[in-house]
Amino acid sequence: MSPGKIGWLALVSALGLIALLPVPEFWITQLNYIGISSLAVLGLILLTGVGGLTSFGQAAFVGIGAYTSAYLTVNAGLSPWLTLFIGVGLTTLCAVVLGWITLRMSGHYLPLATLAWGLALYYLMGNLQALGKYDGILDVTGLTLFGWELGQGRVFFVMTWALVLLGTLFMLHLLDSRVGRAIRSLKTGSQMAESMGIDTLKVKIGIFVMSAALASVSGWLYAHFQRAVNPSPFSVHVGIEYLFMAVLGGVGHVWGAITGVTLTKLMADQLQVLLPRLIGTSGSYETIVFGVLLVLTLKYAPNGIWAFVDRKLPKPARKVDWQNAASLPQRRKPASGEMVLVAIDIRKEFGGLVAVNNINFSVQAGQIMGLIGPNGAGKSTTFNLITGVLGLTSGRVIFRGEDISALASRDIAKRGISRTFQHVKMIADMTVLENVALGAHLRGNKGALSATLRLDRAEEQSLFREAEIQLRRVGMGHALNELAGNLAMGPQRLLEIARALCNDPALLLLDEPAAGLRYKEKQALADVLRQLKSEGLSILLVEHDMDLVMQVTDRIVVMEFGTRLIEGTPEEIQASPAVRAAYLGTEH
Ligand code: ADP
Ligand code: MG
Repeated sequence: MSPGKIGWLALVSALGLIALLPVPEFWITQLNYIGISSLAVLGLILLTGVGGLTSFGQAAFVGIGAYTSAYLTVNAGLSPWLTLFIGVGLTTLCAVVLGWITLRMSGHYLPLATLAWGLALYYLMGNLQALGKYDGILDVTGLTLFGWELGQGRVFFVMTWALVLLGTLFMLHLLDSRVGRAIRSLKTGSQMAESMGIDTLKVKIGIFVMSAALASVSGWLYAHFQRAVNPSPFSVHVGIEYLFMAVLGGVGHVWGAITGVTLTKLMADQLQVLLPRLIGTSGSYETIVFGVLLVLTLKYAPNGIWAFVDRKLPKPARKVDWQNAASLPQRRKPASGEMVLVAIDIRKEFGGLVAVNNINFSVQAGQIMGLIGPNGAGKSTTFNLITGVLGLTSGRVIFRGEDISALASRDIAKRGISRTFQHVKMIADMTVLENVALGAHLRGNKGALSATLRLDRAEEQSLFREAEIQLRRVGMGHALNELAGNLAMGPQRLLEIARALCNDPALLLLDEPAAGLRYKEKQALADVLRQLKSEGLSILLVEHDMDLVMQVTDRIVVMEFGTRLIEGTPEEIQASPAVRAAYLGTEH
């Protein structure tokens, strides 16, 4: 049995024992509260910890779930099992609208908007006559299942914790999937993710909605456990407490949710007894202690308590179970000699600076085109124009006969242009294999639901098989399970090439792939490039290593200060006095 399965078995047995043994009611109640909060914090782990989006509004979403169910069961006599779905539906709607408005803007709009949202909802709940103002709604029914009272004790405990464990399991499944890798890529900024074909706005709204939905379920449980709702447990203050729990537990780890909530609740219990005794008067002094603890956690254990546990856990390598997986469909490749890319008068101005000044060039199928020039010549900007990272000031880019000038990065990737970055962009805490599988994102289609239910395994195997093939192709077959963050510069660049190849491109853009590579690695890279070329792939290569450029390219464009100095074969370029003066001259 795998260590993971043993852990699950131990956890389920422990919870089973608690339910069966004569554990005092007080502790059962505490554990029920812990379970209910854990669901809300689990959502924040996904949103804030994994996705890097901070929300102060989690308690407000808990409130929507709680109030919807309380109101509709008390006033309309609906079954709580129906109102659960109505609550989640309403929460989803709010989250989609809020997310759609704020997540399109970069920066701190989401935290600010969720803060405003939390405040607004709190006062709305407190002032609406129908919701009982600050007294809230009383006499909410308890939960029953097939006429069986779930009560507030052990049976409720079993149901709550079954939901918590199920939520945790689903989250672990989700993060270990095609969509999960897309979610995990958000923190590195959207540029890389979009270049892999990921619709980052959609992913962000997706995790915001999932996180809110978990909060809503938590609120539903709360309403029927507490049998009453009022605005105070759904205030921004509590929203901040949820964030504290997530940070303390380990905001990047799924298990950080239960850990953080448990620790916080246990501490709060102790402190509420201890502090008034020490200080001599009663009051919520524990808030001060939590404030200090938060600062200390952020300073000394920014990854939370679970990070320490996680370090001790065995990490078995991913089982290679994909040798027999179906191979991914491939795109129709350009015929030999077909014009793959034509850049017509492409121009980019940054304010007064003309970074790319009406450049023209074209690349044929199976050709390696070099793009060289001193630092600041505009080579990377040219890449960004072709791949849609930057908009053109003027000019056109034609790819395989289609004008792609106005397309978004991810739509250009979809058409078969892949790239690497001058400054490597990868996900440090993901394995090499997972990072490379991200490149095959567009070749799969399984979504979040399939992932949580593990209906995506066949496709996952195909994606991993492709990732392994591409890694072996660039000579990285030995490093599949290594964490990308532990790689040296050279292997990092090879990882990026393998990732780009996973998209089955017709045109590959490599931005200084040999920078940081050792001599042997450079030779291996040259071999890989020649092999790719022989397979009909077209390559646009920005590189400072002249040996490599002269060895592998068919033609070269020389740029200086944004303008095209000359274009020719490697021999012509080497013989050109203008190039010597302008470019090679700078080397001496
Ligand atoms: P290269 O890759 O050839 O070294 P770049 O394309 O990175 O050159 O840069 C070309 C010029 O454009 C440089 O002067 C650089 O400072 C400028 N530049 C590049 N990106 C931006 C940007 N996003 N905003 C403003 N200026 C930029
Ligand atoms: Mg550059």
